[in-house]
Formats: sequence, structure tokens, C-alpha cells
Amino acid sequence: MRLKLPLYQKILLGMLLGIVYGWLSIQQDWQFFTFNYIQPLGDVFMRLLQLIAVPLVIASLVTGLAQMKDIASLGRLGVRTVILFLTTTFLAVAIGLGIANLIQPGNQLPLSIRQELQASYTSEEAGNGQLSNKQKQVEAQPALQFITDSVPKNIFGAASDNGNMLQVITFALLLGLAMVMVPAEQGKPLLNFFESLNAVVLKMVDLIMSVAPIGVAALMASVLSNLAAKSGGALDLLLALGSYALCVIGGIFILLFVMNPLVLFLFAKKFRFEDLKRFYAAVFPAQLLAFSTSSSAATLPLTFERVEQHLKVRPRVAGFVLPLGATINMDGTSLYQGVAAVFIAQAFGLDLSFSDQLTLLLTSVLASIGSAAVPGAGMVMLVIVLKSIGMDAAGIALIIAPDRLLDMFRTTANVTSDCMVSYIVNSHETGD
Ligand code: ASP
Repeated sequence: MRLKLPLYQKILLGMLLGIVYGWLSIQQDWQFFTFNYIQPLGDVFMRLLQLIAVPLVIASLVTGLAQMKDIASLGRLGVRTVILFLTTTFLAVAIGLGIANLIQPGNQLPLSIRQELQASYTSEEAGNGQLSNKQKQVEAQPALQFITDSVPKNIFGAASDNGNMLQVITFALLLGLAMVMVPAEQGKPLLNFFESLNAVVLKMVDLIMSVAPIGVAALMASVLSNLAAKSGGALDLLLALGSYALCVIGGIFILLFVMNPLVLFLFAKKFRFEDLKRFYAAVFPAQLLAFSTSSSAATLPLTFERVEQHLKVRPRVAGFVLPLGATINMDGTSLYQGVAAVFIAQAFGLDLSFSDQLTLLLTSVLASIGSAAVPGAGMVMLVIVLKSIGMDAAGIALIIAPDRLLDMFRTTANVTSDCMVSYIVNSHETGD
């Protein structure tokens, strides 16, 4: 029997089922079964989404760019997009810093827990032991490393890792640009190829989306059960981190329901209240998928579908803004990095001066741009933010426990912002 429900209802149903099952699995101690037989279903779904990301980015960017009338219109589109990305990211960090300074979650940590944490993590060795290799690598790099990293040495190398999406975008941008610049008849065969690839890839997305409800259910179930397993002994720590987690989640809600509407009203052409309802209805399924996968890149296939089909954004705009946005526009991540840095500083009893806060503003923007669109990337890049105010990267150990949960919220805000920027940029475009 086929369930005739719209996609978002099916995904929502899958999510609820996953949550109920995850909760039961914790209560009934089904962790073994969940790990062995449920988690693989979620992993397969996640892999399918990741599998499609690189071909989707290349095909959509190249066909999108090739539809540009001239280089000047591409330049206008690029400038508008980047200005909006930066504006929303700066605003997001400012909101995060405002909340963290107002609520002071780090000062609310019970003294005993703070002392315990400080004792175990101020010793550099103990703390550094908690850092992943990736975090140690980031620690040794310049803050602008992401600019160097955005240029691939080899296209196959770039396309072999979804964490290198920015490199794939650079290649696709150059390719698309060159295709606009060569005489039309010379570019035509390549354009035909990419148009055909684009159509086929979109069909693959449809096929993958047909199993989204099952994938989302399995992902939610395994995330919950893993969270419970990991925090088993550290439940008091998780609770102590409650006000920090609430600051991040509260901030994300402000982004979603205050900042985003304001930005839409301010910057989108002829934006009315009905458009806001239409906007939320259109992006809701992508938000659900972002929440379940914690990856903007994995959500990209659905983001495309929602933005092009339901927000009626032109393919050439979506093809440019969405892949770039998924990779560099991360409002939720930047807000989280601002809050997390202030929280860690407070927990370690450090007073942050005004210039420290300005440094945090700047480096959180940079670190979010440099974060890959995959689960947990924002926490890795937090190293840069902490280093910028002279803090030990080992402080990250304080906030590891609730990170996966917060990643779900920040990815939702990241994807929503990409949809928003593509909508605004599209509203300023003329012609088809
Ligand atoms: N998971 C986020 C994303 O894909 C990045 C992060 O870890 O903040 O958008």
C-alpha cells in the first residue's frame, strides 16, 4: 500500500517514528539491536545523499552558469549572493554573542562541575588528548587556510571527498565561466552533456527521496540511542550544559523566526506576509532533512528541489547560490561558535574584553565559512575561534557532549539561510 502523503508529512512521520523508537530503545535497552539493525539503514540513506552531492553540485552549477547571458550578470549575482551570505552570518554571530553575554551560561555552571572540568582540562596534555586529529591539524593552520583550501590541485582528488566541496565549486565555477566565454557552438556539446547529467541527477534525487522517511526514522533512532549511550555516565554534565545548549537553541530560533523574516522583508523585492508563509511551507521538508542528517551537503538535493519547485527560484540562481551557500553560508554554525567560545571562556573564568568580542565576531564568521557541510564540522573549526582569543583549543572538550544535538539545530538554520538568500537574489533577477 502506498501512502499518499506529501513528502514533508512522510519525513515528519519518519522523524516521529524514529524519536519514539529511539526513546523506547533507551528505555528497553535495545541499543544492541538499534546499533546492528537500525543504524545501517540510516547510514545507507546518508551515503546515498552524500553520493549524489558532488555530481549535483557540478551539474547544477555548470548548467546554471552557462545560462547566464553575460559575465556582468554573473558578477551581479555573485556580489549580491556574497554580500547576503556575509551580512546574515555577521548578524547571526552578533545575536549569538549577545545571548551568551546576557545569559552567561558559563558562569551558571555549578562551581563543583566547573572546578572538575577545569582541573581535568586546564592541563594541556589532558585537554589535547581530547582533540581529534582534525582539530589538531586546524590548530596549526592560518585562519585564512580555507581560501587556499578552496583551490584544488586535482579535480578528481577534490571530487573524492565531500569535505572538499568548496574545491569542487571552484572547478565548476571556472568550467561554467569558460563555457560562457567560448563561442556558443563550441560550448554547446559540453552544455548538452551537463544539461542531460543535471536532469538525470535530479531523477536520482527523486529516487533517493522516496526512501527518505525510512532513512530519517533510522537516523533519528540511532542518534538518540547513541546520545544516550555516550552520555550515560555524564548525565549530570549534560544537564549542567543545559543553559549553554538552550542559548544555542534559543539563538537558532531567533535566527529562524526573527532574523530570517526581517532579512526577507528588508532585502527581497515585493515581499509580503503571504510570501513568508509560502517560504516556510516550501523550506520545511529541507529543514527536517537538515535536522535529521546534520549535514547541509547531504540536504542539498532536497534543498534544490524545494527552492526550484516550490519557491520558484530560477535554476541558474539556485544552481549558483545553493551549492556555494551549503558550503560557506552557515548562520547557525557561526552563532553556535560565538556562543560556544564565550561559554568556554566563562567556564574557565576568563574575562573577555570588548576587543576579544570583536575578534570572536570576525573569527566566528571565518570559521563558519571554513566549516565543511558535514556533521560535526563546526566544532572542529571552533579551534580557530578559541585560538584567536588566546584560549586553549582543549576547552572544546567541555562542549562535546551535546554537540550532535546542537548540530541538528545549527544545520537547520544553515540550510534555511541558503534558501532565503537564493529567494532574495532571485527576486532581484530579471528575465528567465
Ligand atoms: N553540520 C553543519 C552543516 O552541515 C556544519 C556544522 O557542523 O556546524 O551545515
